[in-house]
Amino acid sequence: MNTSDAFAAHSSADSVSHTNKAVVIGSGFGGLAIALRLLSDGWNVELLERHGDLGGRARVFHLDGVAFDAGPTVITAPFLFEELFERFGEKFDQHVTLLPVEPFYRMDYSDGSYFDYKSTTDEIMAEIERLAPGTSKRYNDFLTATEKMYQRGFVDLAEQPFTKVTDMLKVLPDLVRLRADKSLYSFVSRFLTTNACGARSPYLPCWSVDTHFVLPHCMA
Ligand SMILES: Cc1cc2nc3c(=O)[nH]c(=O)nc-3n(C[C@H](O)[C@H](O)[C@H](O)COP(=O)(O)OP(=O)(O)OC[C@H]3O[C@@H](n4cnc5c(N)ncnc54)[C@H](O)[C@@H]3O)c2cc1C
Repeated sequence: MNTSDAFAAHSSADSVSHTNKAVVIGSGFGGLAIALRLLSDGWNVELLERHGDLGGRARVFHLDGVAFDAGPTVITAPFLFEELFERFGEKFDQHVTLLPVEPFYRMDYSDGSYFDYKSTTDEIMAEIERLAPGTSKRYNDFLTATEKMYQRGFVDLAEQPFTKVTDMLKVLPDLVRLRADKSLYSFVSRFLTTNACGARSPYLPCWSVDTHFVLPHCMA
């Protein structure tokens, strides 16, 4: 599949000569994003995908007549999509309508109980309180800690290239300070250690951390 064909009508890079050729392998979010960036910078891009359709883990596939979303349900950084559309002089919201999802997730446990992961801090704390009375205030400490990670890991560094060992060495003090050696699960367990919100929910590190602050690390 040649993305030049698909996007030629919208490309703002028509004036740039397409002498440089790039081959992008894989059409997940990552491959599509880099292909679009290269294309808008004037490269001649070929996108290779082993599946019959685009999207990778973010695609919809059909099995026995049932449609499955293979991966993402919650878009936490829509500005990343908006930027790709803007590169072609297009508006994201004129092509895609994002709908609010409430709750984001429901965690069903084998004993019949459940945890609804909702969109506001107050609602999440109410859910924690419902399952583990008296523990929800720890969630604020958790948010404070993850905000520091978000600031350094996403706001400051997300667009920095890490192509050399020295690039990584420069951020080593931050990684040590933010305890990047710890698994997400052990980090979250420091704040939410009850059965209801810790050991019982192996997915908690993901859905608690991702929406608020450190999605890229958790979903990678
Ligand atoms: C169950 C689930 C839920 C998720 N929920 C969310 C969410 O709510 N929000 C969110 O932001 N993220 C979520 N994610 C994560 C998100 O889906 C992924 O991070 C993202 O889709 C990964 O994109 P990618 O381009 O890195 O890789 P992929 O999507 O894996 O794309 C890789 C592509 O490369 C192709 N490929 C590999 N090797 C070759 C080859 N040799 N030749 C040709 N093609 C090849 C594959 O077929 C695939 O299409 C979720 C993931 C899963 C699995």
